[in-house]
Amino acid sequence: MQNPLLMPLCEVRGVGPERAAQLLRLDLRTVQDALLHRPRRYEDRRHFQRVADLQLQEPALIRGTIVAAGLKRWRGGGRSVFEFILDDGSGRLHCRWWNLPFMEKYFKTGDEVVVFGKPVSLRPRTMDHPETEVVAELESSIHLNRIAPIYPLTEGLPQRWLRSLLWRLVKEFAPAVAEPHPELALTPARADALRRIHFPEEMSDIEMGRARLALDEFVALQEAIHRRRKNLEKNAKALPCAGDNHWIKPLLAALGFQLTEAQTRVLREIRRDMAGPLPMRRLLQGDVGSGKTVVAACTALMALESGANAALMAPTEVLAAQHDRNFRRWLEALGVRVELRTANTRQSDAAAQPGLFAAPTLFIGTHALLQETFSPEKLGLVIIDEQHKFGVVQREELLRKGTYPHLLVMTATPIPRTLGLTLYGDLEISVIDQSPPGRGRIKTFVRDAGSLPKVWKFMREQLALGRQGYIVYARLEEADSAAGIKAVTKEFEHLQKIFAPWGIGLLHGRLTDGQKDRVMAAFRANETQLLLATSIIEVGVDVGNATLMLIENAEQFGLAQLHQLRGRIGRGAAESYCILIAGVKTEEAARRLKILEETTDGFRIAEEDLRLRGPGELLGRQQSGAPPLRFGDLAQDRALVERARALVREHFRPGWGAHPAF
Ligand code: ADP
Ligand code: MG
Repeated sequence: MQNPLLMPLCEVRGVGPERAAQLLRLDLRTVQDALLHRPRRYEDRRHFQRVADLQLQEPALIRGTIVAAGLKRWRGGGRSVFEFILDDGSGRLHCRWWNLPFMEKYFKTGDEVVVFGKPVSLRPRTMDHPETEVVAELESSIHLNRIAPIYPLTEGLPQRWLRSLLWRLVKEFAPAVAEPHPELALTPARADALRRIHFPEEMSDIEMGRARLALDEFVALQEAIHRRRKNLEKNAKALPCAGDNHWIKPLLAALGFQLTEAQTRVLREIRRDMAGPLPMRRLLQGDVGSGKTVVAACTALMALESGANAALMAPTEVLAAQHDRNFRRWLEALGVRVELRTANTRQSDAAAQPGLFAAPTLFIGTHALLQETFSPEKLGLVIIDEQHKFGVVQREELLRKGTYPHLLVMTATPIPRTLGLTLYGDLEISVIDQSPPGRGRIKTFVRDAGSLPKVWKFMREQLALGRQGYIVYARLEEADSAAGIKAVTKEFEHLQKIFAPWGIGLLHGRLTDGQKDRVMAAFRANETQLLLATSIIEVGVDVGNATLMLIENAEQFGLAQLHQLRGRIGRGAAESYCILIAGVKTEEAARRLKILEETTDGFRIAEEDLRLRGPGELLGRQQSGAPPLRFGDLAQDRALVERARALVREHFRPGWGAHPAF
């Protein structure tokens, strides 16, 4: 039997083609969609106010008697205004409706009515187009005398019409709303939660209903995660990839530094996974500069020592090139083959280079690794650097290049727990919670554009001490347009004058890989002392002598992103300086940036960012394919996420989740 909730709205009584088209613009196709259309706010219309107390533009509910009513038409053009005057004993209120002449038929002098609206004037007190009903109908009113839901609308769709539709849909179809998991006996029931969210009787109903609907969403998410995990456990047979240390030992000896305790501990956790019967699924979290790269190198060597191939994917060409250089330096000395694969590497070179994909080789690349032509033999390990820049889909795509290879994903963006449980719920987590010794402090300052000359002077003094630095422009992000490029070039010339005789490199997304390589090489070799760049340097770039970071239009970046950018400095022993130039217009914006002055704790910054900006961006990249969260809020609902996770852990059966929403 057809699920009644899947009935198209155009088949619902009273929904004509025009209304159906408007509903479609709100993405509402079926009864179910409409039931999940969440009110954007509520108005408590249970308490009447006195006309005498009306405030300009403050919504108010008034009950009174019509003492005069009339329609005025203008000659020609068909324009009209219907007006009545209502008296509630405390004063008089004029209510006007433009170009709705039929109103005249419904309201007569002597009628007792209720109106809800905002006064547009107080002399005389006037409301335009208030919502209105005759008192006789009030008992059964959908719109007045209750807490009224206010829905998101689209052009031409009246609030009242949509509210009436939902009233009917809730009445008729809520009984058909099933519990996704009846055995959990969750309260309130899902059907009841929908009633509460649309037509609450008390203000507290709203949150109670929302929380239940949010819980269902989180349960669905956790189920998907759990199912993936179970599937893996059932089907996967991992290649044994623990290695025997014959390359790792000499690498560690040649590094020139000791691994930190945290790095060593994490490597132990990784080795346990790599030796196990199931493929590793591990997330490595470590703040910027905590030394994830060398952990990745050792992990790669475990697989390579075991005779398998390994692949390392990075989000930008600049970072892939830097990894290629580092890994080549470390691994080629041991006789291990390293292959760089970027968008520019020839596509059909497998034929031209027999043995290209033979094991053991470490392949390093960008998204290019996802191309079909990349088909390594015996892929035992996939490492994804700066995972937050990729989506789950891309991760899975690279994994499919092998048969259940081990997976290590690395991120410097600290992930607040709620997000972690949701986005990475199927991964084990390792944390590098300690930075390598001998790091200089980073001092952070927020300044306005007026301070730039002083800042430049300070930077020149630092350059004279032999330091290097970055200058980051948000505006260069628009470097796609011809105008943007011009602005960058102008900025570049301007800065060259200011910082002469020091050399400045220019790095942005429009350069070819070769050009980017040359710019980075010159900066690394200290041939240029400053690097003017877009946020493409946000991830990975590692130049120890760089101790200055000037970020213009800092207010345009998210906190987590600024933290990443700042992570480019403070990598050597010298003290580093991060200067944020911001034209902040609001208290809130200023307070936000202050957090960076106060702390370099990435977790605190990430929590704050999540609270202020919501999970949209993080989620957008991660969740491609997952159902949207309409009621759940990852920034607030940590308790619900934890509960959903516990429920799924306790009760999960393979049959679960057969019905996606209802
Ligand atoms: P991230 O975690 O941000 O990727 P990197 O791996 O780029 O950090 O490491 C930052 C810098 O610290 C690199 O130059 C790296 O060689 C160095 N480094 C890593 N581990 C140690 C250590 N244990 N002792 C000293 N320096 C280290
Ligand atoms: Mg890194």
